[in-house]
Amino acid sequence: MVKLLTRAEIEEFFARLKKHIPDPKTELQYKNPYTLLVAVALSAQATDKSVNKATEPLFKTIDTPEKMLALGVEKLTDAIKTIGLYRGKAKNVIALSEILLEKHGGKVPKDREALQALPGVGRKTANVVLNVAFGEPTIAVDTHIFRVSNRTGLAPGKDVLAVELNLEKRVPEKFKQHAHHWLILHGRYTCVARKPLCPTCVVRDLCNFPDKTKEQPAEKPKLKTASKIAGATTRKSASRR
Ligand code: SF4
Repeated sequence: MVKLLTRAEIEEFFARLKKHIPDPKTELQYKNPYTLLVAVALSAQATDKSVNKATEPLFKTIDTPEKMLALGVEKLTDAIKTIGLYRGKAKNVIALSEILLEKHGGKVPKDREALQALPGVGRKTANVVLNVAFGEPTIAVDTHIFRVSNRTGLAPGKDVLAVELNLEKRVPEKFKQHAHHWLILHGRYTCVARKPLCPTCVVRDLCNFPDKTKEQPAEKPKLKTASKIAGATTRKSASRR
């Protein structure tokens, strides 16, 4: 098992991420808590980029549960067909919009249980909405945060819930609000899955990952071997003759 980071190392870990990414934000595009909820629900097993591509034109006119219901499931399905699992996701968005209107006055509830009761909304989506829309210090563990937490010794755990609970215990209060975005961005762009960019990583000296990648040595210019040079000289001399 990877060695755990100490309290002091965790402080330094986040201080460095904060310095490196001073204004961390979600890369999903949204206009209000409702469009954020829809965007996060659509992003399950899909990239933020693919979600933004579909939601950018959609959210120009559809940004409330009422408008979503007026659009209807068929048109919504067509609008998001470039996103993975789009049929099921379109049904969920229509169903959750209905519930928001019926039970929550058309507003997104600031409450984990109520959020997780919505179709297609799991713990991760609820955590993102609570954090981004309502400023709560929740940490939604996705594949990037799971990897970074386990690799570095920050908050190891065998599944996403174990990592989330461990992060809640181990991340200092002052960093909790943005911890989720710092860890996602660090995992997405530096501590990537296959070949992490350890040589340029800002927390390299703190990280306990035993298989850190090394700087690639600069490629040496290929030198001609002595026999090739000798052969070329002989041919040149022969042609002059
Ligand atoms: S040193 Fe490597 S493994 Fe450790 S956090 Fe940085 S990129 Fe990830």
